[in-house]
Amino acid sequence: MPYKILADCHSHSNCSFDGEAPMEAMCARAEALGLAYYALTDHCECDQYDGSPEFGGRKYYDVVRRAWRELEENRKRFPNLRLLKGIELGQPLQNLPAARDALSGRDYDVVIGSLHNIAGMRDFYHLGEAGFSEEALDRIFEAYFNEICEMLEWGAFDTLAHLTYPLRYLCKPGERPSFARYGAQLDRIFKKLIEDDKALEFNTSRLLRTDVPVLPDREVFSRYHALGGRRITLGADAHCPGNVAKGIPEALDILREIGYTEYTVFVGRRPQQIPIEYIPAERV
Ligand SMILES: [Zn+2]
Ligand SMILES: [Zn+2]
Repeated sequence: MPYKILADCHSHSNCSFDGEAPMEAMCARAEALGLAYYALTDHCECDQYDGSPEFGGRKYYDVVRRAWRELEENRKRFPNLRLLKGIELGQPLQNLPAARDALSGRDYDVVIGSLHNIAGMRDFYHLGEAGFSEEALDRIFEAYFNEICEMLEWGAFDTLAHLTYPLRYLCKPGERPSFARYGAQLDRIFKKLIEDDKALEFNTSRLLRTDVPVLPDREVFSRYHALGGRRITLGADAHCPGNVAKGIPEALDILREIGYTEYTVFVGRRPQQIPIEYIPAERV
């Protein structure tokens, strides 16, 4: 890989319902790739903390505890891997006591803030099946951005995950949507991130695919950069070992083109700026 220091700070083991491999296999892959930092960030969907039957009874209360135990075990198992202890906290505002419980007593390195479904609406994954008018999409996005802003006001996380998430499900494959119509809402989010010294995540899980909407968009990161945003975390959002760090070098190419010279890794919940050091082809 043509970069000196690579980090992947968003990854799932089979502690997550959609993860395919044990933590050990994920860590082995990260080590084999020579990643300088690797964060496992299994899901905690706060709205499903207590095992609601609506979501098949999944109980994130138990998931959080299991994932933490396994993180500690794998720290010992891989002494040469800089394994960061992370969590992807979904919908924290929809069950604040759950969010607080998930974070208390565990010294995470990085807490990812996510919004996979808007309060009172079904998961975007299902929304995509419906076929929406432009007005309906605007309403969905307005609700989505509003809840993100509320999450930022709450603030107990380090990096904001996959900001353009709903578009994964609301756009057609190969489409490259423009965010121009949501510029004001995005600016509000970026300014708040910068003010509070939080990071914006570059989620690379779809960067190399053409069968799904092309996300995220460099337009978003260019705007964040123009406003002064310098903290960007990188995450492949892998759910199997083969996808660990996938798309990260390509994301760094994009960030360099925009003008970034550094990206961010959280260790002990403190941001560290990592230089983007490109290794020319003849030296690879
Ligand atoms: Zn997510
Ligand atoms: Zn994820």
